[in-house]
Amino acid sequence: MSYAENPIKRRQSTQIKVGNVLIGGDAPIAVQSMTNTKTTDVEATVAQIQAIAKAGADLVRVSVPTMEAAEAFKLIKQQSPIPLVADIHFDYRIALKVAEYGVDCLRINPGNIGREDRIRSVVEAARDKNIPIRIGVNGGSLEADLQEKYGEPTPEALVESAMRHVDILDRLNFDQFKVSVKASDVFLAVGAYRLLAKQIKQPLHLGITEAGGARAGAVKSAIGLGMLLSEGIGDTLRISLAADPVEEVKVGFDILKSLRIRSRGINFIACPSCSRQEFDVIKTMNELEQRLEDVVDPMTVSVIGCVVNGPGEALISDLGVAGANRMSGFYLKGQRQKLRIDNNNVAEQLEAQVRLYLEEQKRLIEIKQLD
Ligand code: SF4
Repeated sequence: MSYAENPIKRRQSTQIKVGNVLIGGDAPIAVQSMTNTKTTDVEATVAQIQAIAKAGADLVRVSVPTMEAAEAFKLIKQQSPIPLVADIHFDYRIALKVAEYGVDCLRINPGNIGREDRIRSVVEAARDKNIPIRIGVNGGSLEADLQEKYGEPTPEALVESAMRHVDILDRLNFDQFKVSVKASDVFLAVGAYRLLAKQIKQPLHLGITEAGGARAGAVKSAIGLGMLLSEGIGDTLRISLAADPVEEVKVGFDILKSLRIRSRGINFIACPSCSRQEFDVIKTMNELEQRLEDVVDPMTVSVIGCVVNGPGEALISDLGVAGANRMSGFYLKGQRQKLRIDNNNVAEQLEAQVRLYLEEQKRLIEIKQLD
């Protein structure tokens, strides 16, 4: 097997549709985030949704804790560029209200709704309007009887909890759902998802819940989700960070990029730098990431401080720079070019080359389409 091939064999799941986004089956793994503004503040919530969408998210979740928030949700939905998942706990009337207002997915646990007639009314509304449901179980809010049965949150306990909700939907003959079994502990979450993946056919929504602040949370999520995704488990994901939701989307794509599952924007290869560096690699990388934040086309750019690894990394990159005395070497698809990069402003020149490259790619695609 060549390392250029992706060795991941994806778990076969059924497919559901959240607005115009397909989840599961052979659909790309969807990246989502969640707003943290007050839902009743329509302007702030719409602005945050737009920022999340601009970062590349496929879906966004919005909490709808009250009827007042449901009314705000109606206005938010009208202005959202991407499908919305409404997060509802317990109150079936809110679920019915947002279903009326065009919600794309309901995150509600049927077992928490209460009376059978209420559960039925929510499921019937979802069926009528083609709205899928996300069942979401969380290690931090496991039912008391399961806590007692298992003594502590375990993968089995999480899955048993999820299956209670799954069974309700099965009984009502509703199969348009996805399930999450999140926990803040990596092994607990991974164990639960592995078990669940064998028990149901529906898509799985991955997440390490309450993962932590921007850096530690990203690492924890990358480890947990990396284990699952590399086993082919997972159809959509949310990185939970105590940080700007836009960061969650970026980390989500970085995880997918690292496993070569889905790419968006530039995949940078950069050396950590050392005393051999011929230009300031760290400063260049920080600048480049900012300068090229708007690029959504997938491509690989290597930024390497010297010739020890520069030409080699350039071989697996679309564009590359390898540090040399005063003027560094520039590579296109692994081929050394005549153009040399002045070590005094590598970021600026590389940005210009990336943009030229993207224009050229666009032109080539247009020519191909005319043929
Ligand atoms: S590629 Fe060169 S500059 Fe970068 S870390 Fe290695 S030896 Fe140092």
